[in-house]
Amino acid sequence: MSDGKLSVPNQPTIPYIIGDGVGVDISPAMIDIVDTAVLKAYDGEKKIEWQELAAGQEAFQTLGDYLPKETLTALTENLVAIKGPLMTPVGEGFRSLNVTLRQSFDLFANVRPITYFTGVESPVKHPEKVQMTVFRENTEDIYAGIEFESESPRALALIERLKTEFGIDKIRFDKTSAIGIKPVSPEGSKRLVRAAFEYAIANGKNRLTLVHKGNIMKFTEGGFKKWGYEVAQEYPTFTVNTFNQIKADEGLDAAIAAKEKALADGKIYVDDAIADNFLQQILIKPEQYQVVATLNLNGDYISDALAAQVGGIGISPGANINFETGHAIFEATHGTAPDIAGLGLANPSSLLLSSVMMLEFMGWLDAASLIKRALSKTIADGHTTRDLGGTLTTAEFTAAIIANF
Ligand code: NAD
Repeated sequence: MSDGKLSVPNQPTIPYIIGDGVGVDISPAMIDIVDTAVLKAYDGEKKIEWQELAAGQEAFQTLGDYLPKETLTALTENLVAIKGPLMTPVGEGFRSLNVTLRQSFDLFANVRPITYFTGVESPVKHPEKVQMTVFRENTEDIYAGIEFESESPRALALIERLKTEFGIDKIRFDKTSAIGIKPVSPEGSKRLVRAAFEYAIANGKNRLTLVHKGNIMKFTEGGFKKWGYEVAQEYPTFTVNTFNQIKADEGLDAAIAAKEKALADGKIYVDDAIADNFLQQILIKPEQYQVVATLNLNGDYISDALAAQVGGIGISPGANINFETGHAIFEATHGTAPDIAGLGLANPSSLLLSSVMMLEFMGWLDAASLIKRALSKTIADGHTTRDLGGTLTTAEFTAAIIANF
């Protein structure tokens, strides 16, 4: 990575973590399909050297460590990696491996593109109108893990300080409340929103929406919105604030004309939405939205709601990226699916579409679009795994995709 650009050799080493549970089903399928697509697209000129890394349950059983040091070293040396799902170890003292990985490499943007594939059953009438990419801040918000248990000495001490030093007398049950803290910074918010703008520009998108609960949490969520609009000034944009100003000064027609001219000039329209209203809007008028930038918790809800809208998380990919260092881990967004693990029935699409994001991140666009087209055709033809209503095994589905190259 230099000057914000990734230079990818023709034979890059890509570390991969098979993952727990269905990882054994979907990871080999993904590798098969990616290798075939890369060969087809570049005729041997480019090739991925896959490097398997230990993590999760098997690593714990064989090496006594859920996330061995060698794995972290390999991920440090090779910027781009891909992983299957990892179970969260149960018991005191274990943190989620996914969260540990995100924090270890400061992967500040969780990127979730949501697209509908024809043939997938959806709970809404027009899933094809959903064409959005969510940029979820990954390092701050209540996910920072600053929480104190009800009636614990630290919760009680903090409540006492809030009362005596800050004059806070609004805690309804001050003897028993658990307390959580929500840090949100301008640095954290701005780097996330910048990543969303860069994506919008690179992908020809002309609308970016900041989603927040600034009406209730004025300084954290409201701060995110304010800093987001500040970042908008760094890019060719036309904001809803400008629209409203023109509307107040010159009337609605003038505002609409100014917005249309800005869009024709290639500017990005930037607005914001309160999270609860946004969750209604994405059901009612999803076609309005293109790129969404939001904080951690909102992003968690929004990306899963959108994934459900297009037919489930079995097909939704994701990536955790630090756009400044180039560190990126692409992943299946579903869990380890213990009920079907190892049975050869799992749908590899989520991990496969994550590999498409990875190839796009690497600039290997021809291989990426080959996979996307073949997957679309396979699903549209009704050749699917059981979760999508079909009868194919993971291996048969993989073969069907490769046959469509
Ligand atoms: P899950 O996603 O594993 O399973 C939910 C349902 O979806 C199950 O019925 C499962 O069979 C089905 N499903 C999931 N992936 C599928 C696939 N590829 N093909 C077909 N069907 C699929 O969610 P869960 O049961 O809540 O979680 C199980 C474990 O996974 C937990 O330990 C959890 O912590 C972990 N988890 C990991 C990640 C991650 O690594 N990113 C994400 C979520 C959950």
